[in-house]
Formats: sequence, C-alpha cells, structure tokens
Amino acid sequence: MERQYLNLIGGKWGPAAGGATSPDRNPARRDEVVAVFPSAGKEDAIRAAEAAAEAFPGWARTPMPKRGEILLKAAALLEQRLDAVAEALTCEEGKTLAESKGEVARGVSLLRYYAGEALQPTGEVYGSASPSTFLFAERVPLRPVALITPWNFPVAIPTWKVAPALAFGNTVVLKPAELTPLTAWHLADVLDKAGLPPGVLNLVVGRGSQVGPALVESSHIKAVSFTGSNTVGSKLAAQCAERGIKFQLEMGGKNPVVVLGDADLDKAVEVTIAGAMLSTGQKCTATSRVIVQRDVLDGFRQRLAAKASSLKVGDGLKADTYMGPLVSADAEKTVLDYIEVGKHEGARLLTGGSKLQGSEYDQGYFVAPTVFDGVRPDMRIAQEEIFGPVVAVMEARDFDQAVALANDTRFGLSASVVTRDLGLALRFIREIDAGIVHVNSQTAGAEPQVPFGGFKGSSSGTREQGKAAREFFTQIKTVYLDPP
Ligand code: ADP
Repeated sequence: MERQYLNLIGGKWGPAAGGATSPDRNPARRDEVVAVFPSAGKEDAIRAAEAAAEAFPGWARTPMPKRGEILLKAAALLEQRLDAVAEALTCEEGKTLAESKGEVARGVSLLRYYAGEALQPTGEVYGSASPSTFLFAERVPLRPVALITPWNFPVAIPTWKVAPALAFGNTVVLKPAELTPLTAWHLADVLDKAGLPPGVLNLVVGRGSQVGPALVESSHIKAVSFTGSNTVGSKLAAQCAERGIKFQLEMGGKNPVVVLGDADLDKAVEVTIAGAMLSTGQKCTATSRVIVQRDVLDGFRQRLAAKASSLKVGDGLKADTYMGPLVSADAEKTVLDYIEVGKHEGARLLTGGSKLQGSEYDQGYFVAPTVFDGVRPDMRIAQEEIFGPVVAVMEARDFDQAVALANDTRFGLSASVVTRDLGLALRFIREIDAGIVHVNSQTAGAEPQVPFGGFKGSSSGTREQGKAAREFFTQIKTVYLDPP
C-alpha cells in the first residue's frame, strides 16, 4: 500500500480540509501509484497564508546568520537522502536517475548558496547632505510570499525560490505542481527537521486552479513567484497588478541552437541532442529549434537524425536509459498533436514522430525522439513551445539570417551558438535576444550563483537565483537617522 503524505500548515502536518486526496503516479508505469497526497483547496490555501502571516514577525526578527544555519542544516539533510529523493523524482516525473541525482545535488548547492547569502551585507550607507544624519538603505523582507512551481524541476525550482525567500526573512506558502509533490514534500521535510519555526514554510499540495488563486487573492500574501505556463503566468500577473503586489514569472521558451558554417558538426549534434532530448525536452531552456547555415546543413541533418534515432528511451530508473517518458497523458497528447501539426504544415520528419509501442512502452508516456527538417519560421512548430522531445531544423543563408531567425519568436529565454569563430561568437552574444546565452554548449543548464531568466515573453523581466534573488525577495527601506 502506497504511503499517504500530508501538507504542512502552521508547523502541523495534516490532510486537506475535507480529506480529499490524489494519487501521485509514475509516468513510466501509469498504474504505479508512487504516493498519495492531499488534494487541497481554497480553505487550506487561506489557512496556510494566515499561518505564514502569524509566523512572519518572529522569523523577521531571527538573526540572518541563524536563518543561514537552518538552510545549511537542511542542505546536509537533503544530501543524506539524495539517493532516495532522486529515486522519488524519477518515479514521479520520469527523468533519468542520473538527471535526478544531478538535480537533487543542485538543490543541496542552492541551500548552501543561500545560507552564505544570509551572511552578506543587507544594505548600503550613504553620505548625507546633513552633517548629523546617518543615512542608509536597508533591504527588508516582503513578508509572506506565495511560491508556485511546476513539475519539470520539482526539486531545483522550489529550492531556488524557497531558499532565498527564507534567507531574506520572508515566510512562505509553497504550492508545488500536483504531478510531482513528493520531491517538494522532501524539501519541506528537511527544512522542518532542520528547525524552521512553525508557519515559516507551509506546504500546500492541491489543485492549482483553486489553491493558486486563493493564495494570490489572500491579503496576507505580499508577493508571488511563479514558474509555469504563459497562460497561467499572464493571469497571475494581472491579479498581482490588481492587488499591487510584487510578482515574478518564469515561463516558456523556444530556444535556438545556431550552427554556423565553421562549426564542428559532432559538437553541434552533441549540443543539440543534449539540449533537445534530455529531460525528454521538458525544460523551459530546452532546445526546440536548430538553425543551421546552408553550407553544413546536409552533413548536420544526417548526423542529427542518426544520433536521435539511436537514443535509448525507457524507464528512467534503468541505468542505460538516455531519455525517459513524458510526464503525463496530457503532455503526451500535446506533443503528439504538435507532431501532427508539423506534418500538416509540410515539415519533413527525419526521425521519430510517433508514440513508442511494445512491452515497457505500453505502460507509460513514451514518444520517440523527433527531428523535423525544412521548418519555416511561420510554422507553428517553429513558434510555439512544444515541451517534448521534438526539434525543428531550419536553414539559414548566413550569420545575419540565422540570428534573425533565432530572434523571430515571442520568447527569449536561452540560446546557443556553435562556432569556432570568436568574432561571430561575440556578435551572437550581442545580437541575440535571450536572457541566457551559450557558446558551444547546450541551451539548458543553470548554475545557482548567476541570474536566471529570459527576455520578451519568457519572463516578467525579473531574475531568479544568484544575487538577483535578493532583488526580488526584499524591498528597500531608506532611513534618515538623526540625533534626538
Ligand atoms: P505546466 O504547463 O508547467 O503544468 P502550469 O502553469 O499549468 O504549467 O502550472 C504551473 C503551476 O501553476 C502548478 O503548480 C499549477 O498547479 C499552478 N497553477 C495552475 N493553475 C493556476 C492558477 N489558475 N493560478 C495559480 N496557479 C496555478
């Protein structure tokens, strides 16, 4: 019998009000229930926001070094259970065990990084025009914040929001994605065991369409940090603007790799495959377009198709699997629908293009690594985020046309160029409209110490991680202090 998990509200683990539950299923074996979680609704969200508000004054008074110590302790606890959390991640999300271990290790690094940030200066002292005035600007917490996270990085994304929110003195309601609550539960559990006072972090697993709006509407919540779809993100932005509260959105991408005429083609294929197919293409920074200079197109497309069709697809728990299943039946349907759209639009299928069938594949949501060729910029598969193992090859005459094609999208998260020419690499860095630029490496990847986020429709213009997190999770109080 699978284990039943609980939500954490005001320091107490408990079921959803009304007792509703929801199964957490394995996308590689859809009949396997990994865990059972509460299916919280509005009432739970409201209680969690109240608990976060009650806990705020005490947490804001807790010295920053003490907050940092709790994060460090949580990092140690998460590291101790790295293998178990990685296995839970593979079982509920589908990515390979190697990727899951990498992600949990990143969660540990993020907790350590923000433990360190808790020892950094919290403001600046200025010279005042008045000789008697001590003039300073201090960064203070926002108060309770709501963090709404997706299923594709269910350890890393909650951690990179929760850790800075706590380090800078905010209290938190975390609403993780319904599809992947077990990993978020582990994060809440290690922080609870590390000694967070009651109510400082509240975990509400439940229906996004109910819990999300209830949190955003709660007068206790003073900021929202969201990662997920553009549809939900733009609604949230309007709600937050209406209430006059701070918000941060990280949403979609349509990230290009540009392969220039002088590129090492093996390198170009390696970069494209890793960016497009790892995590089954379900990363906001995944590669979904490869824009190739005409001179090398023939050689590149052959090698790319050969490599894509050789990838081992299967259960992420198996050691030789390169690519796991899609996360859910809905995700699989969306990807298969886009493949049909691509065919109808006249793109040429080089490899893949269908659901995998037979033995283990019939149990889960497995789609073959798919490469389309001859993709034009006006096609939907060149413009819309597919979020699956599908990559569109597009032809460019020269560097200028390649960059123009790369920029011809409403998104602007990450981009990569493969070249040996330093001058062209520098031009690419200057001319590409993307928040994250790679030269000779894949479009995905995010180190904790640097800002993460996109241009245009990919984000609200704010940045996460690194020192940028301080910008979002604090507000500035300017103080003129004069003698009595
Ligand atoms: P994805 O396509 O990655 O699942 P979503 O935007 O649907 O992206 O989900 C991201 C997060 O937003 C999840 O935690 C989900 O439960 C939550 N969510 C869904 N609907 C809403 C909503 N109306 N308001 C706030 N959060 C929501």
